Amino acid sequence: MEENTVKNTELKKPCINCGAEMKYQPGTTNISCEYCGHQETIINENGFEELELYPYLNAMGAQRHSEEISMLQCKNCGATQHIEENYKSLHCVYCSMPLVLEDQYKEEWILPGAVLPFQIDKKKSYQIFQRWVKRLWFAPNNLKKAALDPQFTKGLYLPYWTFDAQLYAQYTGQRGEYYYETKRVRNANGKMVSKRVRKTRWYPASGQVSGFVDDTLVEASKQRKGRVPSKIARWNLKLLQPFNSSFLRGFVTEKYTIPLRQGHLSAKGEADRIAKRWCRQDIGGDTQRVSSMQVKLSEETFKHILLPVYVSAYRYNGKEYNFFVNGENGTISGTRPYSAWKIFFTILAVLIVIGLLVFFNK
Ligand SMILES: [Zn+2]
Ligand SMILES: [Zn+2]
Repeated sequence: MEENTVKNTELKKPCINCGAEMKYQPGTTNISCEYCGHQETIINENGFEELELYPYLNAMGAQRHSEEISMLQCKNCGATQHIEENYKSLHCVYCSMPLVLEDQYKEEWILPGAVLPFQIDKKKSYQIFQRWVKRLWFAPNNLKKAALDPQFTKGLYLPYWTFDAQLYAQYTGQRGEYYYETKRVRNANGKMVSKRVRKTRWYPASGQVSGFVDDTLVEASKQRKGRVPSKIARWNLKLLQPFNSSFLRGFVTEKYTIPLRQGHLSAKGEADRIAKRWCRQDIGGDTQRVSSMQVKLSEETFKHILLPVYVSAYRYNGKEYNFFVNGENGTISGTRPYSAWKIFFTILAVLIVIGLLVFFNK
């Protein structure tokens, strides 16, 4: 097989052998043609680049790292998505409603600084789904059918912000040290007994802490429906690759809807929690009180990153349900309906068994 290389800017380049679409192969650094098997290696010439935060907070657009992409908005649930593939039929990744290709519009976005490419492929995610759905108790049979329809399972890159900063904090507080006293108390039976009681002695404490806060991860999209459960929203960020649009081929990409400014506020909140933890460690002792703390962040940078999940969306009794499989490590989670009939018959069966047991033991 002939090997070629793909550069960052070449978008939607068809297969040189047969003209078909080239798609990213999960778990590799290749794109390949589904029809003739021709492969090309994705070459990343750029390293990671952290962007200085403040110029981007002040004005959007006109920056070096912003670019126009085509977007489609779902009229049903409002999710915005960028589709790096010529699907014959388009469906919203979150609610499975049809999308109209003619509705595509151009929008500016801050180019992702990094992407965590899918590590497991669609087939594998489908097997994980299947195993999970089969083990569900009291799930309606329709659910099993719907969830197993591969048409409604899509690979989606979710947008996140990550922030880095140098943190410095000054604090005042108190260090608590435990000591024990023995007391004579009356127990439940009215007898006098000795009891050890823990007490705390407090000492004044103050000082400063500093360090580097790396990769604070903040969600960059908020959906009305189909929020990714926190249980699966954990990725190994060591697998991040410098951004190259070839990794998006064959997948859906969601554009951030939480502005950088708002993401930065969440990151600051997280920095405060980290600072407090460092202050407590610095105070030492058995327990600590932090009464005042001034946190300063400097050398702040950020990245817009894309993280992989498989989403399955389907409708049941007029309601929408989603399952999610983490595209890196395969953890699964989702909401699911219960079948009232299955529960009813199971309870009935249990009651009959109990009834029979009682009857024959008389
Ligand atoms: Zn081909
Ligand atoms: Zn939708």
